[in-house]
Amino acid sequence: MAIFVQKFGGTSVGNPERIARCAMRVKQRVDEGHKVVVVVSAMGHTTDELIALAGKVSTTPSRRELDMLMATGEQVSVALVAMALESLGVPATSLTGGQAGITTDGAFGRARVTKVSRERLDRELTLGRVPVVCGFQGLSRDGELTTLGRGGSDTTAVALAAALQVAEHGGACEIFTDVDGVYTADPRLVPTAAKLARISYEEMLELALLGAQVMHPRSVLFGERYGVPIHVRHSQRPDEGTLICRETPDMEDVMVVGAALKPDLGRVSLRRIPNNPGVQGMLFEAVANAGIMVDDIVQTEFGEIASISFTVDHGDLADVKIAASQVLDKVGTGELAVEIGLAKVSVVGTGMKSHVGVASRMFTALGAAKIPIHNITTSEIKISCIVGREHAQRALAIAHEAFGLDKIGSKSQAEATAV
Ligand code: ADP
Ligand code: ASP
Ligand code: MG
Repeated sequence: MAIFVQKFGGTSVGNPERIARCAMRVKQRVDEGHKVVVVVSAMGHTTDELIALAGKVSTTPSRRELDMLMATGEQVSVALVAMALESLGVPATSLTGGQAGITTDGAFGRARVTKVSRERLDRELTLGRVPVVCGFQGLSRDGELTTLGRGGSDTTAVALAAALQVAEHGGACEIFTDVDGVYTADPRLVPTAAKLARISYEEMLELALLGAQVMHPRSVLFGERYGVPIHVRHSQRPDEGTLICRETPDMEDVMVVGAALKPDLGRVSLRRIPNNPGVQGMLFEAVANAGIMVDDIVQTEFGEIASISFTVDHGDLADVKIAASQVLDKVGTGELAVEIGLAKVSVVGTGMKSHVGVASRMFTALGAAKIPIHNITTSEIKISCIVGREHAQRALAIAHEAFGLDKIGSKSQAEATAV
């Protein structure tokens, strides 16, 4: 008997018929003799609708109240899924994140899971019941209801799978969604994208951070840390899906496994500021204190003067402007400039560690398509280019084609990009 955690995303539980089909999938596993824990997201676009509703009563709703509101979406789903299971003769108990043992820090809207206690889940499983757990939410140590950030139900699922040691019990964490696996790019944006049979945690994490919304980045971190096999599958089709697992030696033969797009970025520049030691620390400490993630940073120096630019999500621009203006006031001189309408196109692959010429291939392809590159960042396993938003989707398709990613499905994964 194995333990499986099965997570169903918003589209998969979007209406009563779909909920019934998800319940059938759970029943299949139960009938095979396995123990199952279910995690569900809010139905369809419920979370977006709740956020819009908050905007109608307040222009500045507090993060605490937003969490209280958003968390209701998942509570509707767990109750309905538990009812659907019971109607199929499968005993089930719906649980909030807190009831299921998820403890988080107190950062409303982007809380991190700090502890998972498995007592309640074990109790339900011992009684032969299927716990149906609200994704996306937890309880802080002070007893406050928190949410884990958009898309966070994946993280609930993998965190529970880690606590239940599914790998040791011959099971897995199954992520059921509206696509039948992880593709070489978002299939909605690149129709020629191909499904990957396997992808390493490292590559999936990088793709998720760079815009591939199919997995919440923190869920992949949990998976890697605790060795949870993550199986991404279509909720309404029987297809095999994609396995996210540890890297094996043959994976390095593949230079690039995927391309991703982050739309809607803005660039903030502090121009002509004094090039004094500590100025960078002061700036990025202020940005970090505002809870904002920054990755592409460029500094140029002209003797005693420097300019620093960095990109952030459009949604963070207002907060960044406040933090950066305060820093400018402190340093005394300089100007603040903000550009919008940028996007980031990236390619990812652990094989880059052992291949040369990856970056030049990407730049050449974008250059041939006359797409200007505004900034470049690289790591051991990724190359990212900032481009204008108007070029973003074409740039993604061009990068995808430049590495032969569309052919990955027809050849073996190794042959496709080891060229
Ligand atoms: P869920 O509600 O099930 O969590 P999401 O909308 O969060 O589903 O994630 C699934 C979506 O992720 C897909 O519909 C697809 O458009 C998008 N996506 C982005 N990048 C990829 C990728 N590389 N492979 C598969 N899907 C991707
Ligand atoms: N319902 C939440 C969201 O829409 C969490 C999730 O779907 O994973 O972001
Ligand atoms: Mg999701």
